[in-house]
Amino acid sequence: MNIILLGAPGAGKGTQAKRISEKYKIVHISTGDIFRENIKSGTPLGVEAKKLIDKGQFVPDDLTCQTVESRLSNSDCKNGAMLDGFPRNLYQAEFLKQITNIDKVINIAVPLECLMARLTGRRVCRECGESFHIDSLNGETKCSYCSGELYQRDDDNEEAVATRLAIYTTKTQVLIDYYEKLGVLKTVDGSKEKSDVFKEIEVLLD
Ligand code: ADP
Ligand code: ZN
Repeated sequence: MNIILLGAPGAGKGTQAKRISEKYKIVHISTGDIFRENIKSGTPLGVEAKKLIDKGQFVPDDLTCQTVESRLSNSDCKNGAMLDGFPRNLYQAEFLKQITNIDKVINIAVPLECLMARLTGRRVCRECGESFHIDSLNGETKCSYCSGELYQRDDDNEEAVATRLAIYTTKTQVLIDYYEKLGVLKTVDGSKEKSDVFKEIEVLLD
């Protein structure tokens, strides 16, 4: 089964993806994570991507599509995969349609006005990738799951977030309609608590 997680930056795609892949044993492919790994290890893709990601802009379609295509050709994806952060525009959606079939698209809907505060206050665990918000951390600097160090992503500053949200509205949001028309879209309420969002997703996947 191939699943796509749709949603604005900060909607909770990564958080839910982690839970889905643990429970349903589906490979989790996050383009954002792949780019950040490439940045960390200093590959040519990472060097190119960093300039754009730090400003909140998209990595070019050709590079992004190639990255996803090569990741999907890996043998661990032969029974399906869950895509998080791809596709993000119509070009990428059309590209994906040429190379694989899509069974379910889960749209995590959150009012856009909540997202600036969610993202600029977000802290991420360096070890396990779990996200937290400063409002509920009470000054804690370690992950409550694995004690890993929490850090703020370079693109979680106000300026980059504003750009990411604007690009979401102009380029990505149309994919809701696109997948609705293909008859594969399901929407969950991403403004609820993480575990309640996951319960809604379980109903769709069980
Ligand atoms: P978020 O969904 O919170 O913006 P991600 O970790 O999914 O975060 O992505 C981080 C950044 O990586 C994006 O802002 C963008 O620069 C780049 N990126 C990720 N996926 C894509 C994509 N499909 N197309 C173009 N750029 C992408
Ligand atoms: Zn952790």
